[in-house]
Amino acid sequence: MVDCSHDSQLERARMVREQLEARGICDPAVLRAMGRVPREHFVEEAMSPRAYGDHPLPIGHGQTIPQPFMVAYVAQLLRLSGRERVLDVGAGSGYQAAVLADLVPDGAVYAVERIPQLAALAARRLLELGYSVEVCCGDGSLGWAEYAPFDAIVVDAAVPRVPEELLAQLADGGRLVVPVGDQSRQRLLLIERRGDQFDIRPDIECVYVDLVGRYGWDEGLGERPFPMV
Ligand code: SAH
Repeated sequence: MVDCSHDSQLERARMVREQLEARGICDPAVLRAMGRVPREHFVEEAMSPRAYGDHPLPIGHGQTIPQPFMVAYVAQLLRLSGRERVLDVGAGSGYQAAVLADLVPDGAVYAVERIPQLAALAARRLLELGYSVEVCCGDGSLGWAEYAPFDAIVVDAAVPRVPEELLAQLADGGRLVVPVGDQSRQRLLLIERRGDQFDIRPDIECVYVDLVGRYGWDEGLGERPFPMV
């Protein structure tokens, strides 16, 4: 699980200092995880010199690996103790899932990805790097009922409204972080379940790629939200 390349360790340490700590990320477990997960292994080789840049990077199929700050920010909002069952919607490169797996050594991480090639690549990378993450291919806006309820759910793609299935699959006391808005910008919502009540706290503005699926947008149809039933 540990990457031995000296250069990448230095780059990670600098990224943690300059992009995360300098912008207020202060959860020691999150900083530790971000300082450990080898981000360069989650991008194509040609991109690896830019892996620790302060920006998202293309991962193919029109998708991106998020900026390191967003990965850390979302992880910090979840306030994980290490034993949670976590669902990652939009596994993409697998990087966010790896950071989550590092944060819950005594828990479990499940990740859903819509694009089969990305799902397969993420599953292989995570396995090779020693992260214990269960990956499947499908519409993650429907959650993963088989493994519900989840103590934490992260949605890594923008939705026009909060997916009801994800609320239903949240454990009591569980937290959901989801970017809600239109296709150009969103606001991150932190939703906490208390029995049948959902406490919704709007957080920072952000820009994520579209979620394509039941609670997202229809593939290739631009502005039109996926129809509600
Ligand atoms: N967490 C990823 C972010 C990838 S970008 C990472 O660390 O790299 C968001 C991902 O969400 C894309 O890979 C996209 O294909 C995926 N996605 C979009 N709609 C989805 C859906 N309905 N279910 C699952 N994944 C979806």
